[in-house]
Amino acid sequence: MGRESQKIGCDDCNWSGYVIDDSSNNARAVLCKCIEECPHCGGTGNILSENKAGYSYIAPCHFCGVIRRNVKLYNIAGIPAKYSHVVQVDAGLELNRMNPALQRALKYAKEEFVKKYPTKNGFLLMGPSGLGKTHLAVGTIAELTLKHGVKCMFKDFFYLLSELKQAYSEGTPENDVIMPLVEADVLVIDELGKGRSNEWELNILDQLISKRYNASKKTLITTNYVTYDIAQEIGDKHEILEVRVGERIASRLHEMCEFLYLKGKDYRKERKKA
Ligand SMILES: [Zn+2]
Ligand SMILES: [Zn+2]
Repeated sequence: MGRESQKIGCDDCNWSGYVIDDSSNNARAVLCKCIEECPHCGGTGNILSENKAGYSYIAPCHFCGVIRRNVKLYNIAGIPAKYSHVVQVDAGLELNRMNPALQRALKYAKEEFVKKYPTKNGFLLMGPSGLGKTHLAVGTIAELTLKHGVKCMFKDFFYLLSELKQAYSEGTPENDVIMPLVEADVLVIDELGKGRSNEWELNILDQLISKRYNASKKTLITTNYVTYDIAQEIGDKHEILEVRVGERIASRLHEMCEFLYLKGKDYRKERKKA
């Protein structure tokens, strides 16, 4: 068997083994025909292997097994379809056109988080909307699922709270509500602090974040609000993160996330101009 035949993919899938479908709410990775019709396992994903004692057992196909697993992980991550093109941290971002703060954040996500995963901390991206915060967070989990087989989940803060509220009102046991969110190795909470949260909601959020902290799970946050320190530094009358989510949650996040402040012009507007 030549080396060439071991290479994953074909021209149709750009040698990745999958193509991304953006026709529903969430982005979906679909196995390319070259994997579906894998010549090594006949497309089953499994091969019959034999251990040293001569017993045969079923093992994942050495050619397509990993990509099949990673595609499944990507598909349960709940990445919004509008980010279907963001399959890795720097997808679609041109470093020389980015403002320095976004460059630093990109570098952090790529070099300090994805490359060194599992790291001690997650990260929190704060700053005005339109700078690419969600793009970076999505790129991070897309790359972790598709390339490294890490179990990740994306949740919009507002939807997260309504999902939790609905589950509780339907009488779903607390563990069934919170645990799937705790089990994800990397959880993105997008737009933390958006909308007015009441005491009950913040309490649930606190529980979720504490449980993830105790389980050493990594949490990635994007938020349009900034911490007291940053607000003082930039002399902005921004709404303050600690006020939106409470001191308790904010201080917990400090323990589990690297805080990165993104300032500068709206990246999307800049791109349109360019
Ligand atoms: Zn292919
Ligand atoms: Zn195979």
